Amino acid sequence: MKTPRETVPATFIDEAAIAAQLRAAGNPEPTRVRDILAKARQLEGLDAAEVAVLMGIEEPALAEELFAAARKVKDEIYGNRLVLFAPLYISNLCRNECAYCAFRAGNRELVRRALTQEEIAAEVRILIGQGHKRVLLVAGESYPRGQGFDYVLEAIETIYRTRVGRGEIRRVNVNVAPLTVDEFKQLKAAKIGTYQLFQETYHRPTYAAVHRGGPKRDYDWRVTVFDRAMEAGIDDVGIGVLFGLYDWKFEMLAMQQHIRHLEDTFGVGPHTISVPRLEPALGSDLAFHPPHPVSDADFKKLVAILRLAVPYTGIIMSTRENAATRRATFQLGVSQISAGSRCNPGGYGGPKDGHEAEQFQLGDHRSLDEVVRDLAGLGFTPSFCTACYRLGRTGADFMDLAKPGLIKHHCGPNALSSCMEYLLDYARPETRRAGEQLVERELATLEPSVGEISRRLVAEVRANQRDVFV
Ligand code: SAM
Ligand code: SF4
Repeated sequence: MKTPRETVPATFIDEAAIAAQLRAAGNPEPTRVRDILAKARQLEGLDAAEVAVLMGIEEPALAEELFAAARKVKDEIYGNRLVLFAPLYISNLCRNECAYCAFRAGNRELVRRALTQEEIAAEVRILIGQGHKRVLLVAGESYPRGQGFDYVLEAIETIYRTRVGRGEIRRVNVNVAPLTVDEFKQLKAAKIGTYQLFQETYHRPTYAAVHRGGPKRDYDWRVTVFDRAMEAGIDDVGIGVLFGLYDWKFEMLAMQQHIRHLEDTFGVGPHTISVPRLEPALGSDLAFHPPHPVSDADFKKLVAILRLAVPYTGIIMSTRENAATRRATFQLGVSQISAGSRCNPGGYGGPKDGHEAEQFQLGDHRSLDEVVRDLAGLGFTPSFCTACYRLGRTGADFMDLAKPGLIKHHCGPNALSSCMEYLLDYARPETRRAGEQLVERELATLEPSVGEISRRLVAEVRANQRDVFV
């Protein structure tokens, strides 16, 4: 009899094909690079061979051309909008032995903690009080005794139920261990936004070497996770790689194969791609000494190439990176960022230096308010919009709408109205000033069709309406 965990070996990650593509790309001719950039500027995306060529760029002048193309595509599709969220760690219990993570079962230096529902609600009240509207629920792969997966489902319910005045969390994304189809159906019924999971590395030998114990050792169960999510009706999924474990060029091409597999099988690729780099973590030598470190220069390149390869897929930049690196990648393609993050359960309410329970060291320690002020000063619109998923614009529907201009006509106005909501309800005075200047500038320069709707939404928020969107 088939057990719920049984899965067939995944054949869509083809290591030999990746090796051949990397060999063929070599050190590319500038004319070939420029042809590919010209195609990318048409918003058509790129195939794996083209991605391999762009990854071969070494010459600074050519890299600048790559960045210019990425900036153009980012601007054309997303404008200057950046969506904000906060991770919410509910538990650091885990039965796996990931060599890079402080939560691994054998780490005796870590203080273990699984939040109760009351403690989760207390964390959520703090996040709401800061102005957040989206959270990413995160947990290790083990639940408090006797509770099982219901613990996660209850936590989602708690998050949606918790209110502070008119403030509320409107979208819960989830990053928890791979689930069965039945569990995914429960997750869908709990009204999650995106289900996110990182393969960590697509390279089987590296995967086997760094996952030393626990259910996560099963590469195939993990790499087929989105097939099960989609089978269960979750069409909004987020993929990612933990950069630093293996050659970033291999991982990029493997990711392309994963994306194509989802597109070919389900008609829609991932909604987002995350690009975490390995950070120091308590009790992990590997995390302090990444075997394949990705330099800042290559990191910028990989973000720019992703932007060109899959122009309509969101790119997420977390607070693992410091403020300067984050800023450098915004124009190159990033569309979502976390802010004010803590990566230990109870971290928002607990002491600032609760390092003994956190998953890894953060690079950006600024508050949400400081990040919003910084973004406004740089000319980016901080967005707290949650409209698409609440209106059912997900998966293929999102992509169909996105291509002819959904992002411009919906996300643009919604970014401005949700930004204004933040400025009026939560911002410090100097942030509010910087933000209002930005909103006014935006309203004055938008093209007429978008400008009219944006002005109406912002006026409604100023007239004390909340949660207005199109
Ligand atoms: N436990 C689940 C899992 O492993 O998929 C979900 C949550 S796990 C806490 C979230 C992600 O944190 C992992 O997928 C991994 O990529 C990332 N992570 C773990 N250790 C890290 C480190 N030292 N630096 C940066 N990211 C890390
Ligand atoms: Fe557990 Fe996830 Fe950390 Fe691995 S990465 S030890 S599964 S929390």
